[in-house]
Amino acid sequence: MKVTFWGTRGSIASAGPATARYGGNTASVQVMGRDGTCVVLDAGTGIRSLGYALEDAVDRIDILLSHLHMDHIQGLGFFGPLFAPKVEVHIWGPPSATLDLRARLTRYFSPPLFPVQLRDLPSRVELHNAPDVPTAIGGLLVTSATVIHPGPTVGYRIEEDGASVAYLPDHEPALGPIGLPDDPAWISGFELASEVSLLVHDAQYFPDERATRVGWGHSSTVEVAAFARRARVGRVACFHHDPAHDDATIDRLVTEVGEAAPGITVIGAREGETLEI
Ligand SMILES: [Zn+2]
Ligand SMILES: [Zn+2]
Repeated sequence: MKVTFWGTRGSIASAGPATARYGGNTASVQVMGRDGTCVVLDAGTGIRSLGYALEDAVDRIDILLSHLHMDHIQGLGFFGPLFAPKVEVHIWGPPSATLDLRARLTRYFSPPLFPVQLRDLPSRVELHNAPDVPTAIGGLLVTSATVIHPGPTVGYRIEEDGASVAYLPDHEPALGPIGLPDDPAWISGFELASEVSLLVHDAQYFPDERATRVGWGHSSTVEVAAFARRARVGRVACFHHDPAHDDATIDRLVTEVGEAAPGITVIGAREGETLEI
């Protein structure tokens, strides 16, 4: 499968020459199966460019939302295929005990925030709760699980013929027993990430930055490294870059994660980059 980063930022978009390499759009990642299955992880502002890049031949797209914070859904209304009558768009999201996915998305797809109602979109839109058991979407096998982050939030694991990617864009496992020698099944997100080929993980902060933001739902360099080592992943893409971090700062952050995770390949997720898994 192929993994393409269309948006890698957290919180809000960030632009300008100082962010040219890692990009300025918020979270959106495309996963293409070998048979052409197209899955999109989150619908941040990056999904807009993906809409332009998709071939006309694509007639089904599955959007897997990790949660409904603004930086993960902001691009949804600007995703071209939602306005194409021949396209089937399936949107999957975290279950909630209070409001179903339709009710929560309708808050965005309604005036005054957006001129078009969800029910009036020309494409065929179907909504689903994120699967908690391995579920086939075309040629890809998708599983989700609830992870530590404010509000209902899931991470995803996607597999195809022994290759696997875990997507945990907003994740604060350090609020749980990440560093203790107990059963790793207690670690938030552990089963999703266990021995994956590629882990796309929240790496928003340096340790001193997180120290003043405990409970905000994000990870620091040492925590990403500890989680990746515990889950024995092959490769880590640091993700959900802080909007205040320029390219040089992200370079430093990625180096710090690499130093704390010997034996694991660590990169910073860059907008426009495609990884073969
Ligand atoms: Zn976020
Ligand atoms: Zn969030």
